[in-house]
Amino acid sequence: MVTPDTIRIAPKVLLHDHLDGGLRPATVIELARETSYTELPSEDAAELGRWFRSGADRKSLELYLEGFRHTVGVMQTPDAIARVASECAQDLAADGVVYAEVRYAPELSTQGGLSLDAVMEAWLDGFERGAAAAKAAGHPIVIRAIVTAMRQFARSVEIAELSVKYRDRGVVGFDIAGPEDGFPPSRHLDAFQFIHRANFHITIHAGEAFGLPSIWEALQWCGAERLGHGVRIVDDIVVQPDGSIEMGRLAQFVRDNRVPLEMCPTSNVHTGAVESIEQHPIDLLRRLRFRVTVNTDNRLMSGVSLGDEFAVLVDAFGIGLDEMQWLSTNAMKSSFLAFDERLRLINGVIKPGYERLKADALARSPTLV
Ligand SMILES: [Zn+2]
Repeated sequence: MVTPDTIRIAPKVLLHDHLDGGLRPATVIELARETSYTELPSEDAAELGRWFRSGADRKSLELYLEGFRHTVGVMQTPDAIARVASECAQDLAADGVVYAEVRYAPELSTQGGLSLDAVMEAWLDGFERGAAAAKAAGHPIVIRAIVTAMRQFARSVEIAELSVKYRDRGVVGFDIAGPEDGFPPSRHLDAFQFIHRANFHITIHAGEAFGLPSIWEALQWCGAERLGHGVRIVDDIVVQPDGSIEMGRLAQFVRDNRVPLEMCPTSNVHTGAVESIEQHPIDLLRRLRFRVTVNTDNRLMSGVSLGDEFAVLVDAFGIGLDEMQWLSTNAMKSSFLAFDERLRLINGVIKPGYERLKADALARSPTLV
C-alpha cells in the first residue's frame, strides 16, 4: 500500500485545475477585507473552507459553480490575482506537483474595471513569483496557464486571441468552461478555428454534465486535443456479463487517438457526474488503456489536493507506484508544453523520482514486491 507520505513526495503532474477554485480560505478572507468585499458567508477560515466544500457537494454542476461567486469576487485587483496565482504555484509544489497547467477565465476578473491584459499580466507575474518561491523552498515546479472562455458568454473569440497573445509569457492553451447543458462547444467554433490557425492548443470541458454528443462535438467539430473530464465516454462502452468489452466508434476514436482524459474523481462525485468514487469510470478506463490523467479541478471547493486524489485511487482501486507513475507520465505526455521540455521532465524528474520511491519501498519490505 502506498503511504500518504510517499504519495506527497511522488512527482505528480496536474493538467486540470482552476485558479479561482484553489484559493486558501484564509486568503479569501484577507482579500475580501483588502478589497472591501462584504458578501462572504463566514470570516473564519476553517468555517469558510467547510462552507465551500458543503456547497460543492450537491450533485449538480450548476450548484457546484455557486461558490465561485466569492472567489472571483475577491479576484478583482492585480495584487489579489497575483497573490492567488503565486500561492497556487507554491501550494501545488508543496504537494509534489512538478508540472501544472492551471486555468482561469480572465473575463471574470474585469468586474472592477480591470482590462483583460491587466488580468493576464497579474496572473502570469504571480505564477513567476510563486514558482521562484517554490524553488527556493526546495520544491521546483514548472507552471503554465490555460486561458478559459465561459461557454455561456459571447467573448470566446476575444479570449482565444488573448491566449495566443500571451503564448510566449506562459500560456499554453485555450479552454471553454461553465454550464455544459444547453451550451454546446460548437457555439464557439470561430474561437476554436482561430486557435487552430495559430497552431495553438485546445482542451474543452466535455462529457461532465452532458454526455456523448458534447464529447463528439468537442473532438470532431472543435478539434479539442484533450477532454476536460470526459467521464461520460463510458456511455459508449458496454461491459458484458462475461467481462468482454464492446466499444462504440466514439470511444474507439478516443482510445485509438490517445485523447487525454483530464479526470477529476472527487469533483465528479460532487457535481453528480459520477455516483461514488468506487463507481468512477477512471479505473475501467485505466484498465482499458485510455490516456487517463488524474486532476483536482477545484482544490478549495472539493477540499482536495492532487495527493489526496491519488490517495483516493489507492484506497478505492488499490493502485500502486507503477500505476501512479503511468498516470503521471500520461499527464506529462499530454501536456501542452513543448516536446523537449516534456521529455526533460519525464526523463529527468518523473522517471528517476518513481525509481527512487520504488527502490525505497523494496528496501523497506522486500517480500512485498
Ligand atoms: Zn474544470
